[in-house]
Amino acid sequence: MDKKKNDFRADFKILDQKVNGEPLVYLDNAATTQKPQAVIESLVDYYEHDNANVHRGVHTLAQRATQAYEATRQKVKELINADSEREVVYTKGTTESLNWIARGYAQKILQPGDEIVLSYAEHHSNIVPWQQVCEKTGAKLVYLDLNTDGQVDLENAKQLINEKTKIVSLAQVSNVLGAVNPIKELAQLAHKNGAIMVVDGAQSVPHMPVDVKELDIDFLAFSGHKILGPTGTGILWGKLELLNQMSPLDFGGEMIDFVELEHSTFKEVPWKFEGGTQNIAGVIALGKAIDYLQAVGLANIAQHETELMEYVLPKLQAIDGFELYGSADPAKHAGIISFNLAGLHPHDTATALDMEGVAIRAGHHCAQPLMKKLQIAASARASFYLYNTKEDADKLVEALIKTREFFR
Ligand code: PLP
Repeated sequence: MDKKKNDFRADFKILDQKVNGEPLVYLDNAATTQKPQAVIESLVDYYEHDNANVHRGVHTLAQRATQAYEATRQKVKELINADSEREVVYTKGTTESLNWIARGYAQKILQPGDEIVLSYAEHHSNIVPWQQVCEKTGAKLVYLDLNTDGQVDLENAKQLINEKTKIVSLAQVSNVLGAVNPIKELAQLAHKNGAIMVVDGAQSVPHMPVDVKELDIDFLAFSGHKILGPTGTGILWGKLELLNQMSPLDFGGEMIDFVELEHSTFKEVPWKFEGGTQNIAGVIALGKAIDYLQAVGLANIAQHETELMEYVLPKLQAIDGFELYGSADPAKHAGIISFNLAGLHPHDTATALDMEGVAIRAGHHCAQPLMKKLQIAASARASFYLYNTKEDADKLVEALIKTREFFR
């Protein structure tokens, strides 16, 4: 990475604090990432200098706000190599993006007996919206198996994706196992059968280059807060022809072209989706987050995380009673390691680690079907990002060994 000894940390003031008397080691990045100073300052700067509603005003502040708000679309376009910034729709996050695809697009095209293909490792936000659509349309859910590395099993996919399949919707990276799915092959399989490919990029866009053209996918959803941006921001990307077919879900101000008493017409894509006053400051700050990520380089981030995985996973596996979920190969964990310590509830593990200043997550990670398949109620999860170091990894290992000793 550019900044050699990982002095990215200097850009993240929040990391420079003690928790329970110990220096904070933040390893809960799959839940949300910290924000660099440039993102925080952008929020303040917007409210101090440019605050105005977008699109409607002719005055200078409104023009400035509109220009900065729209500029983020171009940055997203470049980040994911989209064809046009018009394919970039602002949402509240991955959850809203997936709900909109399900309700605004899929619900219109699905017939009874049609199939939607998911995997049992999906986050609830890539399961529940599809269940709702099935209730409305009579379509059916089909779940793909995983291989021993925790990836969607391609052989199983070849059997289950067929002419009945209309939608395939999968995470590119599992938020529990950290496994990276073969999205390009799965998209080919979907297209060969006349289905569209939806990708939940919540855990991939932050950690690796994601190129929608190279993957040849149809929709991509991701969250701003997981790519160094503010909470309440997210992206729905779709091929223009599909977004044109998709209906908006928020009707009202901003998204209309013309309103008569009995009938209204809507703006073009993407503005027809963005009803009401948007999270303007958040979207502008998301643009700053993307600038930051691009300056570091997504390929460099992916490499940094692989190095950390290669460093820490063998050390973790050497801990007595360490039970790993997912691949034993560190290269197959995109910054995420889920585990349990034998005989310990993950909440106890996470609480003990918090006493050492180490922030990890414990629970079902919004993936209850996967937990059931793994035959566990919950797991602990450590997730790394660009500002994490080998020292952080060492602290995690030390704290786990201490926890192990304490509960022996
Ligand atoms: N999909 C995956 C794989 C996730 O990890 C998450 C969040 O953890 C989501 C979807 C939902 O994202 P959000 O809560 O930002 O909408």
